[in-house]
Amino acid sequence: MTVKKFSGKTIYSGSAVGKVMVLRDHQEPIRRTKVEDAKREIRRVRHAIKESGQQLARLYDKAVKEVGESGAAIFEVHQMMLEDNDYLDAVFHVIRTEMVNAEYAVAVTGDNFAGMFAAMDDEYMQARAADVRDISSRLVRNLSGQGGVDFDVMEPSIIVADDLSPSETVQMDKKKILALVTVHGSTNSHTAILARMMSIPALVGVPLDLEEIHTGMTAIVDGAAGEVIFEPTEMQCGEAEEKIRQEKEKLRLLQGLKGKKNETRDGRSIHIYANIGSVSDVGYALENDAGGIGLFRSEFLYLGRDDFPAEEEQFQAYKQVVQTMGQKKVIIRTLDIGADKQADYFELGREDNPALGCRAIRICLKRPEIFKTQLRALLRAAVYGNLSIMYPMIISVEEVKQIYAIVEEVEQELKRDGIPYRIPEQGVMIETPAAVMVSDELAELVDFFSIGTNDLTQYTLAIDRQNQKLEDFYDPHHKAILRMIKIVVDNAHKCGKWAGICGELGADTALTEEFVNMGVDELSVAPPMVLKVREKVRAM
Ligand code: PEP
Ligand code: MG
Repeated sequence: MTVKKFSGKTIYSGSAVGKVMVLRDHQEPIRRTKVEDAKREIRRVRHAIKESGQQLARLYDKAVKEVGESGAAIFEVHQMMLEDNDYLDAVFHVIRTEMVNAEYAVAVTGDNFAGMFAAMDDEYMQARAADVRDISSRLVRNLSGQGGVDFDVMEPSIIVADDLSPSETVQMDKKKILALVTVHGSTNSHTAILARMMSIPALVGVPLDLEEIHTGMTAIVDGAAGEVIFEPTEMQCGEAEEKIRQEKEKLRLLQGLKGKKNETRDGRSIHIYANIGSVSDVGYALENDAGGIGLFRSEFLYLGRDDFPAEEEQFQAYKQVVQTMGQKKVIIRTLDIGADKQADYFELGREDNPALGCRAIRICLKRPEIFKTQLRALLRAAVYGNLSIMYPMIISVEEVKQIYAIVEEVEQELKRDGIPYRIPEQGVMIETPAAVMVSDELAELVDFFSIGTNDLTQYTLAIDRQNQKLEDFYDPHHKAILRMIKIVVDNAHKCGKWAGICGELGADTALTEEFVNMGVDELSVAPPMVLKVREKVRAM
């Protein structure tokens, strides 16, 4: 193949050279085919079971490290279900009696068993339907040689895909990804935010024909130029390697700012915290000398799985984050599911305008049982460090009052049960124009504001942040946004409260000076941006 160069939109501007791994959609329909040799199909099933068991064991080990034993338990359950005799006998029976291929027999049996579980009276057993489906699809993927990417054995690669959802991205092993390149996707999506958080060079909107790109090809990603080159020449590879070396050198120089204050030359200072999406991201925050966690997007704990994380699992995750951060502030945002962050088990149903739909605090207020589980975990974890809670997508004072009533209920329950807890600092995100307009009243009720400029821009400019076609109109530097930030900061200060920015705009060094001048108290940015913003503040 000749050298092929494509341009796209930059998410994170680093460079990478390496082998390509193409992620394809594995949603091909399963075909029913007649076979001559049933024994061969049964052997194939046994082999796929062994392979699936090994994958699940590796997933279990990884999850134990990241979210603790209780969170990892689901993979143990899957391993046990995989060896269940009733299930296997049923698969073998279909193969023998119908003389059909293993993939079909597994899929049909999986559907039958899932249907059986779903029809049971017991809620726990009903929830197992999703597990059976999960196991059956894993077996089918392994049978058809579409096992997906096994990050444990994968060489570090440049991932190329049509699009990636936040739940797919959150499951990836960050150390194995040299760069991300997708045909679709917007620069303001949560997949993009995750890439920035992990400092992975990434491009979206690259007009590739995925039929022409193959796993194993070599590629160069140049984030700064917004380009990807497939099958580059040796000279191009050499130039890219030199660029990577220079980028590393720049990063090394920034390391000299560790331990230094975020202070302007005339003595004004600002807090610079980090945004994270998982327990393991805390490492990036500390590595980059963040003063705290300004936004822990807790909803990522809910993605890429098929059931709600239990209270204990959440408690362990939050506790681990606050303990690892020592006395530093850790602001945990309650779940912001909905819009592009979808988890099927929430059963939100289809919405015409999901970004204007049932998301974030609206789900929590409509389904308090989900909210209370998270609040219990947060109040318990607050005992172990400097934890604050933040509520997303607020539009009114009434919502905050409803939230406080639920927090009060949770407090009474914990007290009654003799479980240690603490009521931490509580703040709200300002990410709707409505919240800006009532920020004077909100400031009296809450401890702090954190401005979510990603959504505030989307709702103020009436531009879907996911819509690739509108990227040129999505302007977070719009005067309306900057004026809103000023209003919010002033209203917070009038009530003696503090206000920060945790949207992507907080990391925009072209505005750092303006933010400091406005009196913004805190900027919470992707971990790799902490030192860059510090550099900017110190140069003021
Ligand atoms: C925001 O909207 O700016 C924000 C920080 O939240 P998210 O990007 O997760 O919606
Ligand atoms: Mg938001």
